Amino acid sequence: SIVEEPDAPEDLKPRAPIVTVMGHVDHGKTSLLDYIRKENVIAGESGGITQHIGAYGVTLENRERIAFLDTPGHEAFTAMRARGAQVTDIAIIVIAADDDIMPQTKEAISHAQAAGVPIVFAINKIDRPTANPDKIKEGLAQMNLLVEDWGGKIQSHDISAKTGLGVKELLEKVLLEAEILELKANPDKLASGTVVEAYLDKGKGYVSTVLVQAGTLKIGDYVLAGTTSGKIKAMQDERGNAVTEVGPSRPISILGLDGASQAGDKFYVLEDEREAKQIASRRSQLQREQSVRTQRH
Ligand code: GDP
Repeated sequence: SIVEEPDAPEDLKPRAPIVTVMGHVDHGKTSLLDYIRKENVIAGESGGITQHIGAYGVTLENRERIAFLDTPGHEAFTAMRARGAQVTDIAIIVIAADDDIMPQTKEAISHAQAAGVPIVFAINKIDRPTANPDKIKEGLAQMNLLVEDWGGKIQSHDISAKTGLGVKELLEKVLLEAEILELKANPDKLASGTVVEAYLDKGKGYVSTVLVQAGTLKIGDYVLAGTTSGKIKAMQDERGNAVTEVGPSRPISILGLDGASQAGDKFYVLEDEREAKQIASRRSQLQREQSVRTQRH
């Protein structure tokens, strides 16, 4: 019942890339996301990233932005994809240089490839004396994944998520990759995007973090997300600042939905509050009917 009108080319404006970090357990996904969250934010953006809202945006020195999904691992990526959500523009795949190319590394690579999402490799832990980044790149070459050092086209960078060595350069490579993709969205329409996290807060009620992918989301908007709907009462960014409106590629935490949406649900802003409510209740009725049917069988 929701039809997304195609945008006229002149209405499309450049937008920041949305990045997911994947890789084998213990290879350093969380450390990399933490390092970027803590260190890679330019001065002048009011304060550091204080809130864990499931996604965050950083601004680099050249003032370009990158949005990160702050849920490392490909479980989140595949769960969202299973729900039909396409939120990732670029995947950073972290590989520990003191280890091998492990099963989950291979899985992450095939997930990214299946989704048609370009990969940037972060060869991590190069501060360790036993690190052997060349061995990793050779292993990738054997899988037909030729990184730049090996004469190929795939971006990779040697980093230490612990000391921060190479992380800035890694992010510059992510931006290079983004440039090739020419990512664009129309900011001048009702917002739509994807839910990345949702929970019930004792004091605040239902809190959802959404990633705006098109349009501009504003306080007072009527939102439909999965089987829930509501009018946006307040919005807060990853720095804890209250915000009144947000454009494409920005993660934002919203208050006002009447239930818990789910990670991977698409959200839409509708002109009409009643329509949003009707669609949401029709969907939850369908869901109840389906679950009754599965219980019977
Ligand atoms: P994840 O499971 O992929 O999220 O991995 P973590 O970020 O939790 O890292 C696993 C372990 O490796 C932790 O003990 C980290 O402190 C350590 N670690 C991560 N990155 C580096 C690095 O660049 N250098 C070193 N020496 N240790 C690292």
